[in-house]
Amino acid sequence: MTTADAEPILQNGRQRHESAHAGVRLAGRRVTAGSVTQRQASARPASDARSPGRLYGPMSHFAKWVPRPLLAVLLLACGSDSTSAPADSSPAALSITAGDGGSAVVATSTDVRPTVRVTDAAGAPVANTTVTFTVSAGGGWVTDAASTSGTDGTAATTWYLGPVPAAAQTLTVAAAGFTVAFSATAQPLVPGTIYTGVGGYVEFTPGDLPVIITAPHGGTLRPASIPNRSGPNATTVRDAETDLLALDMPAAFEMRTGGTPHVVVLHLHREKLDANRDIAEAAEGNLTAERAWREYHGFIEAARHHVIAEHERGFYIDLHGHGHAIPRLELGYLLTSAQLGGSDASLNSTTMVQRSSIRTLAETGPASHAELLRGPQSFGTLFEAQGYPAVPSSAQPDPGDDPYFTGGYSTQRHGSRAGGPIDGVQIEANRVGVRDTETNRRAFAAALALVVESYFEEHYDIPLAAAAVR
Ligand SMILES: [Zn+2]
Repeated sequence: MTTADAEPILQNGRQRHESAHAGVRLAGRRVTAGSVTQRQASARPASDARSPGRLYGPMSHFAKWVPRPLLAVLLLACGSDSTSAPADSSPAALSITAGDGGSAVVATSTDVRPTVRVTDAAGAPVANTTVTFTVSAGGGWVTDAASTSGTDGTAATTWYLGPVPAAAQTLTVAAAGFTVAFSATAQPLVPGTIYTGVGGYVEFTPGDLPVIITAPHGGTLRPASIPNRSGPNATTVRDAETDLLALDMPAAFEMRTGGTPHVVVLHLHREKLDANRDIAEAAEGNLTAERAWREYHGFIEAARHHVIAEHERGFYIDLHGHGHAIPRLELGYLLTSAQLGGSDASLNSTTMVQRSSIRTLAETGPASHAELLRGPQSFGTLFEAQGYPAVPSSAQPDPGDDPYFTGGYSTQRHGSRAGGPIDGVQIEANRVGVRDTETNRRAFAAALALVVESYFEEHYDIPLAAAAVR
């Protein structure tokens, strides 16, 4: 068990005991019940040992008539027995002891950890057997893909369900050639509810608009349990106040449209996790950081499915902050400065469109790719009209030789470069006047809501005020 497994998930501001906690409690009970079962197993058919309903029965009967001092001695004896399993004990069965038929909101973990027990031909627990946990339907994931059975024969994992409500969710568990399957039910997101991942590191508030806003680099939490990232190319500088900027978005959109965007914020400092990188570079192998990374992107996937189910189309914005000398918004569509410096004809070529994070919109919308990048109704030009200089835009069609961010991992993964109905952009915001004070953050959030509203009206023919479905 990792440290992360013992930490709670917060939901709706209240502490919800995450599945690992339930597992810990169950395991605590099993230590006693398992030892008794082991002693009694030889006198009972193996099938009895596999029945979780009967595991605790013999103990309670047993305890009723045995004098307390004697019971204590017997229990001590049981304890020593459990550490000296027969040398020829080999796995003969794999059974489910907890966690089947559970339920959870999409992209969150089930309340009870899926737990299995490995037993021998006599029904006694078998330790040190490799147990694998594989999600075989539903698109979820587990914290421990492989584990080893303990002295009580059990092994468990934490199971996060996939992003689609009502989709079949199956976890296949295998050990020593035996296989069992768990099923679970994925519940839909509830807009306005705050879902928080392990340690409070990831915060997700689903909305009802076809807009998803994320902030991976504004986090301030530096838990000592996660070592600082130290890879040769590790960037650890925080994008100051972009977390607060993202959290200002729901109120700004609600004031303008009556609806709210989906917002996912990483509260871990970039020294600990860089959610805008692939998992290897992002977490550098730390299990807690990897778990937060999977939660972060899992929440975005859940938001994407929610948006597609309700609106068919959508837009993804990854919020960042840059420290470049020119105070302007750098809008990253996954195109380089040189590519943006090309002609409209070049930008409208199939090659360039297929590189773009707004590929689907460029392929399907009335506006050409070049118009979407720097025309009068482009994101950049709409921002310029609100007093926020931006590149690319009509006024600043390309960054030239100045430093410029093209967009990163999340824009590639969650925008439409690889197709799909959700387009995206990375916004790298300058600090002063945009994210440095609460007043400026609120003003920028209001401007962004207006820009996005105009963009949807113009390019998707979706009026956001009518799209709010709450
Ligand atoms: Zn950043």
